[in-house]
Amino acid sequence: MIETDVVIIGAGVAGLTVGNFLRRNGIGCVILEHRPREYVEARQRAGTLDTRGVRLFREWGLAEVLEAGPTPEVEGGFFLDGEALPIEADDDNESMFIPQQLLVRRLTDIFLREGGDIRYEADVTLDDVAGPDPVVRFRDPAGTTHVIHCAYVAGCDGDRGVSRAAIPAGVLTRYAHEFPYSWLSVLAAVPGTTSGMAIHTRGLAGLIPRGAENSRIYLQCPRTDTVEQWPDDRIWDELESRVGRSLGRGEILSKEVVALRGVVYDPMRYGRLYLLGDAAHIVPPMSAKGIHLALFDAETFARAVIARLKDDDPSLLAAYSDTCLHHVWNYQAFATWITDLMHDAGDSSTAGEFRKQVARAELRRQFESEAAGRVFAELTSGVA
Ligand SMILES: Cc1cc2nc3c(=O)[nH]c(=O)nc-3n(C[C@H](O)[C@H](O)[C@H](O)COP(=O)(O)OP(=O)(O)OC[C@H]3O[C@@H](n4cnc5c(N)ncnc54)[C@H](O)[C@@H]3O)c2cc1C
Repeated sequence: MIETDVVIIGAGVAGLTVGNFLRRNGIGCVILEHRPREYVEARQRAGTLDTRGVRLFREWGLAEVLEAGPTPEVEGGFFLDGEALPIEADDDNESMFIPQQLLVRRLTDIFLREGGDIRYEADVTLDDVAGPDPVVRFRDPAGTTHVIHCAYVAGCDGDRGVSRAAIPAGVLTRYAHEFPYSWLSVLAAVPGTTSGMAIHTRGLAGLIPRGAENSRIYLQCPRTDTVEQWPDDRIWDELESRVGRSLGRGEILSKEVVALRGVVYDPMRYGRLYLLGDAAHIVPPMSAKGIHLALFDAETFARAVIARLKDDDPSLLAAYSDTCLHHVWNYQAFATWITDLMHDAGDSSTAGEFRKQVARAELRRQFESEAAGRVFAELTSGVA
């Protein structure tokens, strides 16, 4: 039997950040991860940390996760029907390119180097999370079952994990919004030196660096599209038409059609089980705020547990769900606005020609306003 203060389910960004924050403050924890380490550390997703994320790691003494990345010199911008829209640089913007898998690798290295305990390939089940003595069981790859007694469980295992699924039906309310279009999401072996979002009459397109050697391509497409309808040449032709210039083509490494949705579960806790990151909410990728929200939850939870276990102050844990949900809904509002705006301004088959012209007028106004330009400046470096 193992005893610890906090069991963290999931070694993604949220779980590893909580783990590092807790350990550095003398709180015991064990991280249980379903996948092998190599898989987790190679998983390609986000590419940017926003300003808040960069400052968060510095404030908690983890600036080394930000260092020495293969940060390419990136040219970028927004394009409307092939015309580049100017973006004012914002002196206060500290966002940086850092592929999510690199962030995960560094957080893992620090956690293990400092004596942290991660069990990979763990088959996890949760018991008694509603009561005062939660029990987490996991089967290791050799088939041995271990039992952990803890004070709190941090469910950081994403949208399809076991944590949220362990909460009885009817406890959580699920709020969801499905957008009426999808993204063809493509990983291509082209150097990440160009970053851009294009709004075109054929629909939205994005080209975003994912490290020095790869880039992600996003193409707005009907929800009914399948990858079979998108042979490699069509992807490059469509991207170049929407961006309005020719680009260096490379090998297409993977492609999938991704539905765009916003989802929030309320409350973000059940008894001693707390939900963090994608386990509690999904933002549409246009907003590029999934990492931001995962880090916000991680910091809020870590502060609350430290206050409870070190200062005997339960108030932050009691407020955890409300604190996070307030923040989450602000970002869902932003994510819905930016997603609608960017997609409605393109292919008029989604929202109609009138709506398209309104969206384009709004977009131009955003670029002409200095304050709003800052939002776009942060966004251009952060888009999914
Ligand atoms: C293609 C793509 C592109 C994206 N681009 C961006 C972007 O540009 N910017 C941005 O901010 N966000 C982006 N996101 C979203 C971002 O990746 C997520 O919001 C972020 O990973 C959430 O972190 P998390 O730690 O909550 O979940 P995850 O990173 O999903 O980590 C969850 C962990 O739990 C593990 N797990 C799952 N089930 C179990 C189980 N039963 N037991 C134990 N462990 C389990 C998983 O293996 C995983 O390691 C993107 C997502 C995708 C899919």
